[in-house]
Amino acid sequence: MASIQNQIVLITGASSGIGAACAHFFAEAGARLILVARRLERLEELAAALKTQFGTETLLLQLDVGDRPRVESTLSALPKDWAAVDILVNNAGLSRGLDKLHEGQVQDWEEMIDTNVKGLLYVTRAILPGMVQRDRGHVINIGSIAGHQPYPGGNVYCATKAAVKSLTECLKLDLLGTAVRITSIDPGMVETEFSEVRFHGDGDRARKVYQGLTPLTAEDIADVVLYCATRPAHVNINDVILMPVAQA
Ligand code: NDP
Repeated sequence: MASIQNQIVLITGASSGIGAACAHFFAEAGARLILVARRLERLEELAAALKTQFGTETLLLQLDVGDRPRVESTLSALPKDWAAVDILVNNAGLSRGLDKLHEGQVQDWEEMIDTNVKGLLYVTRAILPGMVQRDRGHVINIGSIAGHQPYPGGNVYCATKAAVKSLTECLKLDLLGTAVRITSIDPGMVETEFSEVRFHGDGDRARKVYQGLTPLTAEDIADVVLYCATRPAHVNINDVILMPVAQA
């Protein structure tokens, strides 16, 4: 296992679920963390807990990844000792609704596309040039099984995650000849706030999603993210699909 002690890891969507679990795993491994999300108070709570538990240094950025001008201005002005990001975990994402396309809400589509696709692109465009210039780094995209396998009502969400899959594959080609690594982690069902966000805060409907099977936990995913990030420098794990045993 390669050490990531003192490496700088930028995690988007760190205020809950998979992103927060990644923050814990990377903090325990000795990394310094740039934590990005819109809910600053959640990031502050997490940073305080990581400081107490592991002595972790954090930089908190309250940012909507879909807000291009703010992403560009914030990430181009990182403090000098935080600017050389070693690992980028593009995790911020969401699903809205499970409607048939012809009954769907355009606003929901825009939110998913702006966050899952454009947000990932904006953050990557800001961070990746430094990695290429330094000839070191690792971009880890959190995709989804939805990018491989469509399901009823998945339409726009599935399309955004298929875009993440395709972008990861294309980036692998763009990065040939550099030492920068690129990985996609594509989970099946994970129990986080994701379902509640999908159903616009309807907790009962969200909980029903997990009935009858044991879903993955955010920690199951973070464990694999850290595994990919700590392989020897010549090893690139292109794609990992993680599924609950009971999910088809
Ligand atoms: P959560 O809802 O728990 O976490 C989503 C995170 O994304 C939050 O921290 C949220 O923070 C952040 N986020 C959402 N929109 C934005 C935005 N515009 N700008 C910045 N941050 C944003 O869900 P998960 O942890 O489950 O989801 C993480 C990733 O995993 C997503 O990309 C999701 O698509 C993917 N995934 C999830 C699966 C599941 O079953 N849970 C399965 C497969 C993939 P805040 O609201 O504070 O901005």
